[in-house]
Amino acid sequence: MNEIVTFGHPALITKSSDIVEIDDYIVNLSKKMIDIMYEAPGVGLAAPQIGINKNIFVFDSGEGPYVAINPKMEKKEGEIVFMEGCLSLPGYYWDIERSEYAKISCINEQGEEVIYEGEDLLGRVLQHEYDHLKGRLLIKSLKRKARKDALREISLKGFPGDKI
Ligand SMILES: [Zn+2]
Repeated sequence: MNEIVTFGHPALITKSSDIVEIDDYIVNLSKKMIDIMYEAPGVGLAAPQIGINKNIFVFDSGEGPYVAINPKMEKKEGEIVFMEGCLSLPGYYWDIERSEYAKISCINEQGEEVIYEGEDLLGRVLQHEYDHLKGRLLIKSLKRKARKDALREISLKGFPGDKI
């Protein structure tokens, strides 16, 4: 049941729009996204990764799952380089520089206002999934030369790690 779209799909480079109402569709969507995330398996999944350009992502960095709807980045601090991959770029990992700490405000699937914040894996997942909603893929966070190499490698090899 892997419905995750990979690099090259237009939804991945499109800016997502806010969710106006938390109705059954959104509640079911969040459940479905959590299932797909665990099945992948991954620690986060944003709606564009299943071809839906809406501002919602799910994540579980160890204590979840949690749902983030219409997230806003409130704060980022520090700098850290970390080996990072993406379910939409299966089989690839790069050293990515990001903030060490991130704080996001959003709504959860019950319509409650919530804050998600943290360092380490959580801080990283929040930034990674938030980027997806802005149409920004991992590859964009690479430095110029590394990005060129990455794009060349993908065009030559495709996604050998892809389980589809
Ligand atoms: Zn990703």
